[in-house]
Amino acid sequence: MTVAIIGSGFCGLAACYHLLGQGYSVTLFDPLGVGGGASGIACGLMHPYPGREGRYSWKANEGIAATRELLEVAQRTLQQPVFNDAGILRMKPLLTDYPDVVPHASTGYLIQSGITVFTQLYLQGLWLACKAKGAVLYPVKIDRLEQLKDYDKVVIAAGSGVAHFEECCDLKLRYVKGQILTCKGPLLSRSIVGDGYIAMSETPGLCYLGATYERTFTSEAPDLAFALQELQPKAANLLPQLGEVIECRAAVRVMNASHYVPLLKNLDERTWVVTGMGSRGLLYHAYYAKLLVQAMAEKKNLEKLIV
Ligand SMILES: Cc1cc2nc3c(=O)[nH]c(=O)nc-3n(C[C@H](O)[C@H](O)[C@H](O)COP(=O)(O)OP(=O)(O)OC[C@H]3O[C@@H](n4cnc5c(N)ncnc54)[C@H](O)[C@@H]3O)c2cc1C
Repeated sequence: MTVAIIGSGFCGLAACYHLLGQGYSVTLFDPLGVGGGASGIACGLMHPYPGREGRYSWKANEGIAATRELLEVAQRTLQQPVFNDAGILRMKPLLTDYPDVVPHASTGYLIQSGITVFTQLYLQGLWLACKAKGAVLYPVKIDRLEQLKDYDKVVIAAGSGVAHFEECCDLKLRYVKGQILTCKGPLLSRSIVGDGYIAMSETPGLCYLGATYERTFTSEAPDLAFALQELQPKAANLLPQLGEVIECRAAVRVMNASHYVPLLKNLDERTWVVTGMGSRGLLYHAYYAKLLVQAMAEKKNLEKLIV
């Protein structure tokens, strides 16, 4: 059985890895290569309590367990750390008490299950693991699904590129631009979240300040002046001793408008779409990849189970 996957971000690569594990022959298409979309600039924060109030996210523990599996695969393949699991420090109380969130250093709360993923390394490691199992990646943009007619199955994991496919125009999706700043800073032992966040980087002495949520935008390009104005004051409240900003990057998140969980759906017998990860790509991509493989094997539409 041959599968074509459009997109090699978190969703495309996770689907690829699990499909290969079930004996499918997988070909990826992505003009930007591995992590050229939102996944490549994600700051790597993953914990069960995202959002302002910090409520437990649907299936967060299952999501973290599934992502951890793939993190281990990437780490073994690259032979270097691709994540830090020393927890994530939250500088605001959560509305509810959770057993894995403990007071820390008088003003904060340590989310012990929090993980910072070094996203570029993770993506590279996962791709190399897929390649070793026979996956092929072509640096090609798919304009129409018709181009993939020779494959038995097609998975659209194109992130914001999903808007391009007329077959997806009925999906209720929203698009939110996000920007981050790369900044010189002290050596962090874990990432810090509050209003805004400071995420550890794989490069010692650098960190990421995130992220803007721009619901209306006319350009997907980075806008340094806007990002500085939005992000620097929030970051300074979390950690005053930050250094020079050296880069600004931008990408577009896809949100599933009808509910808070992402979308996994078959458009017809051979075409699947997995998208709408919002700001929780790391929490859900690997879990959804497993559901996708299960749904394909059992010829089931899991959409109803997911919602
Ligand atoms: C600034 C910012 C910070 C973020 N930080 C975090 C974070 O800390 N933690 C977290 O969990 N999430 C974070 N996110 C969200 C996360 O990045 C997304 O949820 C996730 O990347 C979505 O993954 P994806 O595979 O669906 O899409 P993408 O990573 O966007 O991958 C889609 C791929 O498809 C390719 N593509 C598109 N169209 C076509 C086509 N026609 N043909 C072929 N290929 C195509 C693109 O080139 C791209 O590589 C952040 C997002 C942003 C913008």
